[in-house]
Amino acid sequence: MKVMKFGGTSVGSPERMKGVATLVTKSGEPTFVVLSAMSGTTNSLIEISNYLYKKNPGSANEVINHLERKYMQHIEELYATDEYKNKTRDFLHGEFDYLRSFTKDLFTSFEEKSIVAQGEIISTNMVVNYLQESGVKAILLNALDFMRTDKNAEPDSRYIKEKLGIVMEANPAYQVYITQGFICRNAYGEVDNLLRGGSDYTASLIGAALPAEEIQIWTDIDGMHNNDPRIVDNTEAIPQLNFEEAAELAYFGAKILHPTCIQPAKYAGIPVRLKSTMDPDAPGTIIDNVITRGKIKAVAAKDNITAIKIKSSRMLLATGFLRKVFEIFESYQTPIDMIATSEVGVSMSIDNSTHLTEIVDELKKYGTVTVDTDMCIVCVVGDLDWSNLGFETLATDAMKNIPVRMISYGGSNYNISFLIKTADKKRTLQNLSHVLFK
Ligand code: ADP
Ligand code: ASP
Ligand code: MG
Repeated sequence: MKVMKFGGTSVGSPERMKGVATLVTKSGEPTFVVLSAMSGTTNSLIEISNYLYKKNPGSANEVINHLERKYMQHIEELYATDEYKNKTRDFLHGEFDYLRSFTKDLFTSFEEKSIVAQGEIISTNMVVNYLQESGVKAILLNALDFMRTDKNAEPDSRYIKEKLGIVMEANPAYQVYITQGFICRNAYGEVDNLLRGGSDYTASLIGAALPAEEIQIWTDIDGMHNNDPRIVDNTEAIPQLNFEEAAELAYFGAKILHPTCIQPAKYAGIPVRLKSTMDPDAPGTIIDNVITRGKIKAVAAKDNITAIKIKSSRMLLATGFLRKVFEIFESYQTPIDMIATSEVGVSMSIDNSTHLTEIVDELKKYGTVTVDTDMCIVCVVGDLDWSNLGFETLATDAMKNIPVRMISYGGSNYNISFLIKTADKKRTLQNLSHVLFK
């Protein structure tokens, strides 16, 4: 069985939902479909939660009413029969009343995660109803019945495999199985989610649990491009990436993939294919185990990075020093992205500055601390094994007019990363494309 995941734009209108129905039934084989919320909906739901949090039910109601009107309009366009129009309208009324219930009594338990979950709950209901109306044997499986995270907020793969197995066994012989991306329960059974863009992660976790023969991520672009298409002109789709290269690109900012979605597919050895719903015949990108030797594949950039340097006149790198430094970051659950050391200092970069003040205060016990904000990591990905002569020189050559705060090379065979000012990001990405892919 294949898993096919469709993102927000790919289910963003009744027209696109019909396109999804065509794509998922094309092969005639049983298919597992993961859907995002219609584009813009998750943002609106977050806006509603924010208004409720600020005790502003009036503004929350305005957004709810606006969203409801939009969805009711979609019903007219999506369904042909009164039966399905009525069925879906009733369902939507129920969901919007549920949202409105939070605005009536602000002092009852206010569940932001349950509000945000409505986007995927609604889109999957709309599409399954459309498929059923069209005569397809389709079933909606509730992701909250089998998608769960553990106490560390990491997906609980064993639980997912076991529960999904039970659900699939209880529902044999369907042509299309549909479920919600993004949403899950946490270790305490509460509604939760896999963070923004998390539907990719759902698809890959389900792919590994089934297991699927292939995981397809359908989006609004024809695969992973060799640079950020939002910033650089004339980027090109990459035909093939290995799992490590794709994981590095996703982690370092290639928005087409959720940062951790490659891991489950990689461990299960299941290829991931990136495809465009706007251009379904384009080859897209295949992500698998194949390593293409001697090739730089792509560049990506990750924003909102803070660099922290600690400098000491004492024997800084004496045994145990780095452990103490890392423990400070660990105690604030703040992962370190890049690291560079010298005799007298160590520099690190983080992308979560929630506890920056506390971390800096604690680091000051060990030396002088300097902080640079508004930084960005630019990551060059490909077969960058150190036996390939000249590749790191090629990448650094493209950086010759850019002030570079840190460089990381040798952490894996697949990347070289530069820490620069965000203000220099655009010209850095352009230079890199010019030098590496001209
Ligand atoms: P979806 O809603 O389908 O999950 P996303 O918006 O999350 O789609 O991801 C697709 C977008 O990722 C593209 O429209 C593109 O602008 C952006 N993107 C950023 N970097 C890349 C890249 N290297 N290759 C392809 N797309 C990229
Ligand atoms: N709807 C969620 C979001 O907008 C999840 C996803 O689309 O992947 O982040
Ligand atoms: Mg996405």
